[in-house]
Amino acid sequence: MWYDTAMYIQDQLQEIKGNIAAAEQRAGRAPGSVKLLAVSKTFPVEDIMQAYADGQRLFGENRLQEAMGKIPAMPADCEWHLIGPLQRNKVRKALEQGFGLLQAVDSLRLAETVSRIAGELGCTARILLEVNVDGEESKHCFTPQELQELWPRLVALPQLEIRGLMCIPAPTEDPEEARPAFRSLRELAENLRTRGPLPLPELSMGMSHDYAVAVEEGATIVRVGSAIFGKRG
Ligand SMILES: *Cc1c(COP(=O)(O)O)cnc(C)c1O
Repeated sequence: MWYDTAMYIQDQLQEIKGNIAAAEQRAGRAPGSVKLLAVSKTFPVEDIMQAYADGQRLFGENRLQEAMGKIPAMPADCEWHLIGPLQRNKVRKALEQGFGLLQAVDSLRLAETVSRIAGELGCTARILLEVNVDGEESKHCFTPQELQELWPRLVALPQLEIRGLMCIPAPTEDPEEARPAFRSLRELAENLRTRGPLPLPELSMGMSHDYAVAVEEGATIVRVGSAIFGKRG
């Protein structure tokens, strides 16, 4: 069967939105509580334009340099999130680019730098804090315990709007295996909410193979790349 890229992207977007709606319903969540972030890293602007033509407006890139090449080529009513690691010497560039959300703020030092530079630019940076919820040693992000300890210092940073938490659990064969990690992230956010003063509305979790499980566990943003655009080369 002949099947072109445009049709593929259109079909996949429709199917994924249907799956998200079904997972919302299974979990007793309101329809539309979950935002689909289309992760367009490595895919060309033509593919992203196709998703745009199908109504998609929220896109994610994991590398600043690549994002800066694509964002100006797309219509201005798109919202972009930076989902990959951010080096402190690139913070100014990232903030000037105007991302709707920096999703992978992974240390107090980075958070402090973002706050300071946002102050210099006269803006407030919307961020998520990246948490290592599955205990993988090699990851460079907040452990739940660190986040609890550093919370007073993080919430005191003046030019940050901490919108919530994100996680990238280790890849698993069976999406069900990611459920405990997603649940931990939700429980951590619930716990931090009780400490105040932030409402922490966003939980960014779930990717192509496990977004439905993430929605069941409370995700408000799912980050889906290959399931929309196809396999990355
Ligand atoms: C690439 C990437 C995704 C999307 O991964 P897929 O498996 O293609 O859906 C999600 N989150 C982050 C942080 C990524 O780097």
